[in-house]
Amino acid sequence: MPYCRMCGSGTVVVHISYAKLYLCQKCFLEFYVKRVKRTVEEFKMFREDDVVGVAVSGGKDSAALLHSLHNAFPKLELKALHLNLGIPEYSEHCESKVKTLTKILDIELQTYDIRKELGLTIEDFKKTKFKRKICSVCGTIKRHIFEEMAKRAQVRVLATGHNLDDVTSVMLNTFLNGQWTQLTRIKPILPPLTEGMAYKVKPLIRSPENENLLYCLYGELPIRTIGCPNSDTAGIKKYAKMLEKFSEEDPNFKHLLLNRFLELIPLMEEKFPKPTITRCRICNFPSSNEVCAYCKRISLVKGYQTRNNIVK
Ligand code: SF4
Ligand code: ZN
Repeated sequence: MPYCRMCGSGTVVVHISYAKLYLCQKCFLEFYVKRVKRTVEEFKMFREDDVVGVAVSGGKDSAALLHSLHNAFPKLELKALHLNLGIPEYSEHCESKVKTLTKILDIELQTYDIRKELGLTIEDFKKTKFKRKICSVCGTIKRHIFEEMAKRAQVRVLATGHNLDDVTSVMLNTFLNGQWTQLTRIKPILPPLTEGMAYKVKPLIRSPENENLLYCLYGELPIRTIGCPNSDTAGIKKYAKMLEKFSEEDPNFKHLLLNRFLELIPLMEEKFPKPTITRCRICNFPSSNEVCAYCKRISLVKGYQTRNNIVK
């Protein structure tokens, strides 16, 4: 039976194969927090005296993110931002987990309920042409509303829980499909598109998904225990599965891939300049079109509601 590499105790619970480390529960939690701290410092994501918004969904990644940032940077002012998407049962469940977590950590929580604010829910998109692309619509809606929430909360930086597995799967997908501009959007730190918007940062970019779950389990963090009924991740899962196969051969594979992509992105940025950004004539957010993707999607539901006299 191996001993914990950090404290020498015999109660090993985790084997970090890519780092050839056996760790006990306490040392694993410390190892995890240290890596988050190092990642923030490596990419200069924020300063210790910043106000940082954290997008929290009720899931393991964002719970691990909020908790580890709180531990790694005790002086940092954190604001948890939660979006209630109005998905039956699931959204209420997620919101209750977020409320418990922020209460434990004594962190301010701001919630945006799309039913109350916009008079619609993600479910309403099932009546539009996006009925088979609910997750894609949901992603567009989330990105836009989190920008708005970051502005309302007056945070300079918005941290999201994208983990190593998410990021490398999306990078591989965009790479193999030649979506160069999208590839450059998956950076660890994204500057604001226009003045007054927040920087977006990914402090978990070097943290594997399974370690986020272990951090929540060993740290006894409240996380959702049911899945979203609309979950449709087939496309990305294909790339995640490919990465798993490679990782069986080399446990360090995802870390290596991430590092190579991080070297590639500046070259791609040079070769494929960003499209010209104007402002959406409806919401005034930066957009490469006259009407942004968010407003186009919202107006589809609003149009349906108007045609059918639906008031929410
Ligand atoms: Fe939205 Fe899809 Fe995630 Fe559900 S699974 S919250 S619909 S992105
Ligand atoms: Zn718009």
